[in-house]
Amino acid sequence: MSEVRAVVQTGPGKLELARFPRPRIGPDDALLRVEACGICGTDYETFRGDFPLPLPAIPGHEPVGTLEEVGERAAQRWGVSRGDRVVVQAELACRRCRGCLEGRECEVSPGTHGFIPVSRSPALWGGYAEYLYLSTGSLLHRIAPRIPPSIAALYNPLGAGFAWAQAAGGLEFGDSIAILGPGQRGLACAIAARACGASRIFITGLGSRDAHKLALARELGADVTIDVEREDVVERVRAETGGRGVDVVVDTTPFAARCVIDAIYLARPGGTVVLAGLKGRNRVPDFPSDELAVRALTVRGVRAVDYRSFQRAIALLESGSVPVERLHTHAFALEQAEQAVRTLAGELEPGAISVTIEPWR
Ligand SMILES: [Zn+2]
Ligand SMILES: [Zn+2]
Repeated sequence: MSEVRAVVQTGPGKLELARFPRPRIGPDDALLRVEACGICGTDYETFRGDFPLPLPAIPGHEPVGTLEEVGERAAQRWGVSRGDRVVVQAELACRRCRGCLEGRECEVSPGTHGFIPVSRSPALWGGYAEYLYLSTGSLLHRIAPRIPPSIAALYNPLGAGFAWAQAAGGLEFGDSIAILGPGQRGLACAIAARACGASRIFITGLGSRDAHKLALARELGADVTIDVEREDVVERVRAETGGRGVDVVVDTTPFAARCVIDAIYLARPGGTVVLAGLKGRNRVPDFPSDELAVRALTVRGVRAVDYRSFQRAIALLESGSVPVERLHTHAFALEQAEQAVRTLAGELEPGAISVTIEPWR
């Protein structure tokens, strides 16, 4: 096959199916046959055109697939062989700059998978395609081929769960945690917290919309689910923790600026608040900065997922110890990319949690 089918975003809300020549692979690069590409809130924000993007580009930054071609040096560098099943981290990294060396985001990388324009050769930089081009800056992780593609695609939300609850939140065995928002990342935080040995896991949602997600959270290890439409979350958590609050709070809610204030009041003295949900243009009203000083809170912002957290997510997926497949709700073909993104956002039907695009369906 000499042509590759891919979905190209040409403008806000505009996705089109296109064909590109299959790239030639040299000693330093590889070609991934994409089995599934997970989608997240970022896919929806970019689909709508919330940030300026270098368009046209092939979206998709959560791909799982099989290495169909891999150059000799690339195979050595990544420790992989042709035919291996891998997942790909979103960001490209040089591994030489200060950011890379200090374990933060790359400062000189040319971008992330999914957001490089098709004008840059060989165009196939995003996961909404039959094949994804892997360059020297790509970061791969092997994952067992027995895991179905739609489930393997959970490496991304689960990676975020470990990155936010454990790596950023500092959650340790026996700690308590409150997670605001029961979306795929909130649920992933609950799974990660359970895996880390949290003593008590609280998770919030809107009873009218998220009832099934809260039920699923209980199945996946949350101890207490709180319907914020019926209960005051701060009062409830304080009542359940002897007035003290929790060790770690993770706010995953998008747009809800008010949740940042709840998060601050939920943390125990000396606790950590992790802010992960982007609020768009919404500003936090009456920010209680004195609370941070008086109760010596740590507040951390997070966005990306670190390498170790991906490794932990993959170990959890491969262990088969958690029924993570319950998170996967929808799979779509390449030509249904728009439907996939709108479904994830709840525009077409309620109830989506983890949604994949599967190019060979
Ligand atoms: Zn994502
Ligand atoms: Zn770098």
